[in-house]
Amino acid sequence: MEFSKSVQPLDKLSFIRALPKAELHLHLEGSVGIETLVELAAKHSLELPLHDKPEDLLRFADLGEFLQVYDLVCRSMQDVDDFIQVTYEMLQRCADHGARYVEFFFSPHAHTGIDYPLMLQAIRDGMQAAHADFDITSRVIPAHSRELGAPAGMAFLEQVLANRCDEVIGIGLDYQERPYPPDPFQEMYRLARKAGLQTTAHAGEDGPAAYVRSALDTLGCPRIDHGYHIVDDPRLIADCRARGIWFTCCPTTTLYTTQWRDLSSAAHPIRQMLAAGLNVTLNTDDPGLFRTNLSQEYAVLDLPPEQLARLALNSLEAAWLDEALKKHWRDEWQQEISRLFSRLAA
Ligand SMILES: [Zn+2]
Repeated sequence: MEFSKSVQPLDKLSFIRALPKAELHLHLEGSVGIETLVELAAKHSLELPLHDKPEDLLRFADLGEFLQVYDLVCRSMQDVDDFIQVTYEMLQRCADHGARYVEFFFSPHAHTGIDYPLMLQAIRDGMQAAHADFDITSRVIPAHSRELGAPAGMAFLEQVLANRCDEVIGIGLDYQERPYPPDPFQEMYRLARKAGLQTTAHAGEDGPAAYVRSALDTLGCPRIDHGYHIVDDPRLIADCRARGIWFTCCPTTTLYTTQWRDLSSAAHPIRQMLAAGLNVTLNTDDPGLFRTNLSQEYAVLDLPPEQLARLALNSLEAAWLDEALKKHWRDEWQQEISRLFSRLAA
């Protein structure tokens, strides 16, 4: 009798899940699932709005409604253990869906009762524990809420620079976009870059294409979070393509926070951006609150496996990693992807 190890063929979802990927647009607080939110709220005697079922809390009509729940999560994360737990659980779920590397945001201003150095140390502890247990590498991007304005942004940056460590790789800009254009944050971004930090900003999610232009030219970002309204400006599309600008797109959240609510439509901006040959990456944004994961974000657009593999490799190119490590991983990922293709069921 012959005992040979048979290799199981992969269905498309298993193929997607196994693809080595980088997650580049994820908010730590938005990664919290409803169970953890209920647990932390109870721990800190924080009242959650009454609903028949806790998960009913996660129904949002727009970005504003979402941000109210996001704020609840922030207020429920108060001590060192909370930050370690949330960071660890987030990275565990990323690893479970094929992420090998994660750059994630967090919102320092939104947490009460814990100061920045303590918060950051707890996040780093969670990152180290996840690295040891799941072999996942990660970096953190403190993000400033644009709603707080530019002077507060300078104080934010001072705090970030006063607590520099290898894990803090750059800064971001988020929260309600449309009433808060990027221009006032020019100086904050200039100083961040001068100090050696990478820069990105949420732009063109529900704000106009002009905000994407400002994030590129005034703030100097080589990478844009979302960017969807770029589709309203063909010249800007051509410019971004020529300059190799990266976009961290998040399919599921567009269904809640933008005017485009049909992912199957050719008019959906992510499809238009892909068709225009822009450098797109796929990400989760707020996987806990929107009940998604990285595999699902790759699956929802229903793209052919070859394109999904290219998007997975794109995510590595867009990552803020040094070139030597990138090259090493590129070779490794390409070999892995070839093996996955050989197992993909017809
Ligand atoms: Zn985001």
